[in-house]
Amino acid sequence: MKRIMLLSLIALAGFSLSAQNIYHDEQVTVDKIEKGTYKINYRDAPNMSSMYVVVGKKKAVVIDAGDKDYDLMSLVRKCTDKPVVLLFTHTHGDHLGAMNQFEELYVNEKENLSQIQRNFKGKVHYVKDGDVFKLGGKSIQALEIVGHTAGGMIYCDYDTGNCYSGDCFGTGQVWLQFGSFDNPISVYLSQVEKMIGYMSTRHITHIYTGHFGQEECMYGINYIQDMGELARKMLSGDFESEHHNRSAESSPVRMTTLRRATIVYHPDRVR
Ligand SMILES: [Zn+2]
Repeated sequence: MKRIMLLSLIALAGFSLSAQNIYHDEQVTVDKIEKGTYKINYRDAPNMSSMYVVVGKKKAVVIDAGDKDYDLMSLVRKCTDKPVVLLFTHTHGDHLGAMNQFEELYVNEKENLSQIQRNFKGKVHYVKDGDVFKLGGKSIQALEIVGHTAGGMIYCDYDTGNCYSGDCFGTGQVWLQFGSFDNPISVYLSQVEKMIGYMSTRHITHIYTGHFGQEECMYGINYIQDMGELARKMLSGDFESEHHNRSAESSPVRMTTLRRATIVYHPDRVR
């Protein structure tokens, strides 16, 4: 009996951890993460951005639109035939690529909207902290997390325990050096605490981030806790840092790491 239970636990664990590929060609991979939940990656995309599709009984949402204007909708249609709307985690160009394949999109008004206002032909809705998208038998709640951008949004699916964080917490590292909005480490720490509160009270267990690559792009709460511990160390001066390896030689941008979490920051913002 014990052995059967153990075997079925292993089988269950294997099922939830290993995504099932439903389509791939030289350029693109579409994986089913679990029931009604898909991940799309263009392997040749310069910034390796990830897109997610979450499907309810009546509607579906697509989270972010990738690096370039690829034929994203045809891939979404491999996942669902339901009506779809696009949700943006934030408005950096490497997540807006295929937006014009959608009729409607949702974005936080606090984001930089210039590219959307210039290029998007469809209807723009503003999403704010706490908004809920009812998809039929499944709800997605928006959670505002600032830091990477001025109005970053994470989308939480309480049904599966998944959330989709874009770059708000990043793929192994969060980039806090952008933007003219006031973005000190203390504000980011408050956002980390908000996220930990959400994850623990709403049973959000898996964080899917906005990029893929060498680093595994699915994390648990310990990743966010590490971000929090690192931010606290920065504020108390108890940390080591180095020049950010992806910034220009002359740039003041630095990075600091604790376990799997790296914070990329401007020295003026450590306060
Ligand atoms: Zn970004």
